[in-house]
Amino acid sequence: MSLNGIYDTDNIFAKIVRGEMPCVKVFEDEDTLAFMDVFPQSKGHMLVIPKKESARNLLDVNPDALAPILKTVQRVAHAMKTALSPDGIIITQFNGAPAGQTVFHLHFHIIPRYDNTGLGQHASGGMADMDELNAIAARIQSAL
Ligand code: AMP
Repeated sequence: MSLNGIYDTDNIFAKIVRGEMPCVKVFEDEDTLAFMDVFPQSKGHMLVIPKKESARNLLDVNPDALAPILKTVQRVAHAMKTALSPDGIIITQFNGAPAGQTVFHLHFHIIPRYDNTGLGQHASGGMADMDELNAIAARIQSAL
């Protein structure tokens, strides 16, 4: 599955939306969900996904669904800035496996950058400590 293909309703993020898999939630509204990446590239790495769209990537999604998604991206990025005081924030998303996509449900990465701290590997670094992940999520939540 890559840039072209059929949306797989059993992908991990669809299961998270349906409550079949856990996530460390930061924010949720009618249209979107923001949660911590469990293989973070830096401390505070979050993901934002649409809840109602069966879109594999940015090219697939109904354009009318983009505004609520990006609204949540900006909202949690603001909270990340307040809570974690990063020196920079990467906001990105990948379309197709050759571009780096590994989960085929549209999502945006919000990745804090800290001076003099390298970026971890994408989707293949170590799994986060869950206590630490919950603590970071609580800090970001408190700044929403
Ligand atoms: P991408 O490679 O852009 O498709 O990004 C998928 C992201 O999802 C990667 O950064 C993974 O670390 C992350 N990820 C995979 N499984 C989970 C999960 N169960 N909960 C949270 N993040 C996940």
